[in-house]
Amino acid sequence: MSEARLVVLSNRLPIVLTTDSKKKWKIGPGSGGLVTALGPVLRDRGGIWIGWLGAGLKELPEDTTREALLQEGASETGYALKPVDLTREEVRDYYFGFSNEILWPLFHDLPSLCNFDPSFWPAYVSANRRFAEAVLDNTCEEDFVWVHDYQLILVAAELKRLGAKRRTGFFLHIPFPPLDVFIRLPWRFQVLDALLRYDLVGFQTERDRRNFIDCVRSLTSGVRVVGHGHVCKLLTPERELRVGSFPISIDFQEFAGLAKRPGVIGQTKLIRDNLPNRKLLFGVDRLDYTKGIPNRLKAFVNALERYPELRRRITLIQVVVPSRESISEYKALKQDIHRLVGEINGRYTQVGWTPIIYICGSLSRPELVSYYQACEIALITPLKDGMNLVAKEYCASRVKYDGVLILSEFAGAASSLQGGALLVNPYDVEGVADAIHRAANMDSDEKRRRMKLMRHSVRKNDIFRWVSSFLKAGVTDDLAQFPFMEFFVPRRKQEADSSFFHQSPLQH
Ligand code: UDP
Repeated sequence: MSEARLVVLSNRLPIVLTTDSKKKWKIGPGSGGLVTALGPVLRDRGGIWIGWLGAGLKELPEDTTREALLQEGASETGYALKPVDLTREEVRDYYFGFSNEILWPLFHDLPSLCNFDPSFWPAYVSANRRFAEAVLDNTCEEDFVWVHDYQLILVAAELKRLGAKRRTGFFLHIPFPPLDVFIRLPWRFQVLDALLRYDLVGFQTERDRRNFIDCVRSLTSGVRVVGHGHVCKLLTPERELRVGSFPISIDFQEFAGLAKRPGVIGQTKLIRDNLPNRKLLFGVDRLDYTKGIPNRLKAFVNALERYPELRRRITLIQVVVPSRESISEYKALKQDIHRLVGEINGRYTQVGWTPIIYICGSLSRPELVSYYQACEIALITPLKDGMNLVAKEYCASRVKYDGVLILSEFAGAASSLQGGALLVNPYDVEGVADAIHRAANMDSDEKRRRMKLMRHSVRKNDIFRWVSSFLKAGVTDDLAQFPFMEFFVPRRKQEADSSFFHQSPLQH
């Protein structure tokens, strides 16, 4: 019998394909908290990451073999990368179609933006089957398969159809909607049934988990819920599974460390020196209708109108990272934002003061941390968000315990940051404007007290703790059977279960 490994499955592999100045393809490791946190566990015990390469073979020049690139990628990441091939049509209908035009808006409580095109469903099923086949080809029965996100809900059900037995966990990175929204999905029974095929289903917040259990109770029969706490059991007529809430987080130390780097401090000073004698507000979002950017701009204008003393004293720096622009809603949103920014700046700009500095593009992590440090107020107002990592990154980067976080009640991050953030309803234009005014006038003691609470929470509940708590619930305490769990056991002392995972071993 071979040793059980950790297998991670996500839509995209954790690598980026780029071309150099001579148009030669290069592969490099991806960034982001998930890649950082899972990398060491996968490397330590010969784990595997399975996913779509993000580019079809046809797009690669003839002298570049995919295998050579993947080998190079594997040597950079330190663990095996197994690609799933998808056709152009599958990508269109499974990824852009079912995933991003149905599940994404529906699960963010925006059913009016869904395109329930029936042709998307077969593509979603067939793409999920491809991923399940890749699991079957590259893993054995002892392995633990951790499936990520809404693109891959059907993988456990497809594995069963293929007759494969695997221990599986699923984590949903986006919210799970309430029953009256979920029920509109034409494939609601298939999707629920597929989720019940996993051994562990994880959600970002208690609210998401409650929504899921409500849907299960209302749309299926014979399912019992047993237990309380952040992980409970569901007993279906056929099987037993665990359902829990595991709020995802960031690598706190990485952001706190970057904030102290001389290059980042220098860049922060440059931003501040160029925008003197004013408070800086910062918004940074992927271009997405869930992020509430137009509402935020309207709230900013409302603050300038109702609190005229803020004019010349406050500037909003808004970064928008382009995404999914092949979908019509995203194109329209981009135009809407450009128009609003133009109108606001056209109306309020005076010599020496532009109300909004608009950056349409993406920032590197050190650049982002420079902005986090330069701006004393973060304005994060999504209409709905699974978690919102930017909110946590902002807190981790405020190493001087100053800065105010204005945060939407509808971001998953609100549940852990509510003690320190100014919580707002993003639909309430005057409420957000009042929060901007309050943040701009907050005294340093209050700022410090609030930031201390938030930094403490993010430091304690970092991405490493998130990985270990999910995996521990996934392997159901059967640690001996899963040698990769040794990675999370404190080496000197095997503590009692209650304190077992309280400290990330990766931090030291
Ligand atoms: N980000 C980045 N460069 C940018 C803007 C954002 O690297 O110019 C990163 C940011 O650090 C964060 C992620 O993108 O880790 C956004 O995550 P979040 O959960 O806030 O939103 P999502 O885009 O996943 O919905």
